[in-house]
Amino acid sequence: MKILVTGGAGFIGSHLIDRLMEKGHDILCLDNFYTGNKNNVLKWVGNPHFELIRHDITEPIRLEVDQIYHLACPASPIHYQHNPVKTIKTNVLGTLNMLGLAKRVSARILLASTSEVYGDPDIHPQHEEYNGNVNCTGLRACYDEGKRVAETLAFEYHREHQTDIRVARIFNTYGPRMSENDGRVVSNLIVQALQNKFLTIYGDGTQTRSFCYISDMAEGLIKLMNGNYIGPINLGNPDEYTILELATIIHKMTKSNAQLIYKELPKDDPKKRQPDITKAKFHLDWQPQFSLERGLELTIQHFQDQLFE
Ligand code: NAD
Ligand code: UDP
Ligand code: UDP
Repeated sequence: MKILVTGGAGFIGSHLIDRLMEKGHDILCLDNFYTGNKNNVLKWVGNPHFELIRHDITEPIRLEVDQIYHLACPASPIHYQHNPVKTIKTNVLGTLNMLGLAKRVSARILLASTSEVYGDPDIHPQHEEYNGNVNCTGLRACYDEGKRVAETLAFEYHREHQTDIRVARIFNTYGPRMSENDGRVVSNLIVQALQNKFLTIYGDGTQTRSFCYISDMAEGLIKLMNGNYIGPINLGNPDEYTILELATIIHKMTKSNAQLIYKELPKDDPKKRQPDITKAKFHLDWQPQFSLERGLELTIQHFQDQLFE
């Protein structure tokens, strides 16, 4: 099959491409390199089954493909808040263009949505029927509301034009190839621990997140794309940790001498997050296989190589 991966030079996209290439597909990797990096897909450059396209999805593009994994969008709060209007354009105009493309060529399109559609949730864990608690004028809204509109667009293309959609609500995912200045908690804490710098804890560190290792996520996305259930469906690891627990585990695993430093909690930072993955287990026969310790071991090794070699 000919498969387009938007945001393919990013963290999740590049891991997905590795798997799709290994399965023998023809891959078009489209990226504007805002947060992505050519190095992430360098090993495929020159392969006749791989094509790298520099393009910004807020502009239309005509391609002929069978499937589209639509991942293009910065995912880390520091990056998506750097130019919030651009984040909205990427989610709204970019997703519109990708749906227009899917419609024109009758391709199946999978939208990478997010747990952020639940905002700062007042139910726990979060299941797909929960409509969320998003502050539409807050600092995270460009991303949260952008993704909510992207989901709406996907479902309207499905209802109005019978576009073949899949919608994944991805929860916090981590692993090798996150960039060291990505700004998300796992990469920040590992890099700080390895460099014996202060481990930055925002707020009192009692807020929780549930961390999914990248291999599990890539597998889940491929299962969703190739199954019959259109979603929206939660993909994530239900094991929940406070940020302080995460810092303690990373501190111990890296044998670091770093101290903790407490910083102000960003506004609208969700207090709790844990996916209910009943639907993913039932419809996709999928659940994460990697424990946090195993995933962190591989991620720490990656940053060690990146920082010290
Ligand atoms: P990432 O920042 O590593 O990758 C995003 C990629 O999209 C980058 O390569 C970037 O250059 C590209 N991009 C951004 N704007 C673009 C545009 N306008 N045109 C073309 N390319 C553009 O992030 P990631 O962690 O790999 O996330 C991938 C997708 O998964 C995103 O849609 C994100 O919202 C979603 N997601 C990720 C997580 C997570 O924890 N990693 C959680 C929920 C949802
Ligand atoms: N589009 C695109 N590539 C295509 C087909 C459409 O980028 O192969 C864009 C198109 O330019 C438009 C959007 O997708 O901005 C929505 O397309 P659709 O055909 O659904 O709507 P229309 O063009 O009729 O407004
Ligand atoms: N966080 C932290 N220290 C950091 C980076 C993040 O304590 O160096 C916190 C952040 O406030 C949030 C959690 O860790 O409560 C997860 O943050 P991240 O940016 O990774 O993802 P998101 O908030 O989008 O889930």
